[in-house]
Amino acid sequence: GGRSYSFMLRTKNPCGKVSNQLYLTMDDLADQFGIGTLRLTTRQTFQLHGVLKKDLKTVMSSIIRSMGSTLGACGDLNRNVLAPAAPLLRKDYLFAQKTAENIAALLTPQSGFYYDVWVDGEQFLTAEPPEVTKVRNDNSNGKTFTDSPEPIYGTQFLPRKFKIAVTVPTDNSVDILTNDIGVVVVTDDNGEPQGFNIYVGGGMGRTHRLESTFARLAEPLGYVPKEDILKAIKSIVEVQRDHGRRDDRKYSRMKYLISDWGIEKFRRELEDNYYQKKFEPFRKLPEWEFKSYLGWHEQGDGSLFCGLHVDNGRIGGKMKKALREVISKYNLSIRLTPNQNIILCDIRNAWKRPITTTLAQAGLLHPRYVDPLNQTAMACPAFPLCPLAITEAERGIPDILKRVRAVFEKVGLKYNESVVIRVTGCPNGCARPYMAELGLVGDGPNSYQIWLGGTPNQTSIAKTFMNKVKVQDLEKVFEPLFYHWKRKRQAKESFGDFTIRMGFEKLQVLVDKWEGP
Ligand code: SF4
Repeated sequence: GGRSYSFMLRTKNPCGKVSNQLYLTMDDLADQFGIGTLRLTTRQTFQLHGVLKKDLKTVMSSIIRSMGSTLGACGDLNRNVLAPAAPLLRKDYLFAQKTAENIAALLTPQSGFYYDVWVDGEQFLTAEPPEVTKVRNDNSNGKTFTDSPEPIYGTQFLPRKFKIAVTVPTDNSVDILTNDIGVVVVTDDNGEPQGFNIYVGGGMGRTHRLESTFARLAEPLGYVPKEDILKAIKSIVEVQRDHGRRDDRKYSRMKYLISDWGIEKFRRELEDNYYQKKFEPFRKLPEWEFKSYLGWHEQGDGSLFCGLHVDNGRIGGKMKKALREVISKYNLSIRLTPNQNIILCDIRNAWKRPITTTLAQAGLLHPRYVDPLNQTAMACPAFPLCPLAITEAERGIPDILKRVRAVFEKVGLKYNESVVIRVTGCPNGCARPYMAELGLVGDGPNSYQIWLGGTPNQTSIAKTFMNKVKVQDLEKVFEPLFYHWKRKRQAKESFGDFTIRMGFEKLQVLVDKWEGP
């Protein structure tokens, strides 16, 4: 008997936009060729698991026919460009989404058909026509991109994956500071987009016990007028292409280049040799907020949209059936959010009632169908899909959240109070655990490193609090922390801010001498 292959395919959808036809195709493919579940990722894409090798061609061509490109969704090039998923008819939102699409187009390899297929968690196949590979290999004109078949990547792809997000002021639904490049639309007093603030050098991945690897927040680079944004992005990507480390994958993300050089040198190199202009001073921005878009909202064009929470991004069973029913009946288009949720768009007022009924029958609109803890929680796939996993994440998080809820009840925290919890199976940090107020990062079989100190709006990076906490012992840490938060917090102080104000040494003492509430 041979090996039974199991493929994972990722699609690319800038801004998480999914047409009605593509949604229905993915829904069918999951049943026919996958494991019957659609999975939404933290980069606004679909994953289809468990496609057999013999079915791959059929699956690929179905996706391509229904316009969902798989182009460049994985590998060492630009990942899906994030933008707020909300279908709001507002100049700044539309401009952010358009810009994300333009950036995606700019950074898409010109080689045409390009895709990656993952088998048992490892990248198995990256396909492109052989003649393009040849052209690329023959062409060594480095920085001059005008005549190259790969306008940006030149003779080689980027040293590592590259992540970009675009958003509008206040809307941090995209975890802006965790990206290699974060772009924020800046408008004038009438709401007309004028230009962009650019952040650079964010990234989550690290390696345990290697202090020289770290999660890092993106930092301000400067402001560019709107007509210069693509040139600025191209310049930044080129600096990383030319100077990013290629000798050791652990250090090849752009955050290490910026951390090595410092932002001043990085900016100077850009201005002198790539962008060939000065960056203007970063414009002042209001505070960031996490936006989930759950529930019903006005789009601003007379129609409504409805955001639905999807636990761990998995659409299966009753939910899958109910979604298919309303999406096909009303010909709805879809948006996927960076928090692995789904938004049903372009709903006429008259449809709100019947759609509500269908969704409610599947249990999707009951006010308590999702615990507030689950609404902001995320976990990476880990076991059994990811070869890097050290311990459980997605399969373990439902139980962990229930246990946190039980601790909340025990120490007297109310149902509507919440904490951002993120769990990953290894330090690579795919579910962005280092931005969480409580991050659990697998560091051994059934054990986690505990990170504290992120904020509800994802603007500061957490720090390691404890190592090797066994999964069965989590209450010994959660109980004292939440007990003291409940009693010692200042007005409206979030759990993350509380842990930073208290200091980890003091918290450690409280955990060590804890004997129950
Ligand atoms: Fe795999 Fe680690 Fe990423 Fe989780 S965080 S999906 S275990 S690489």
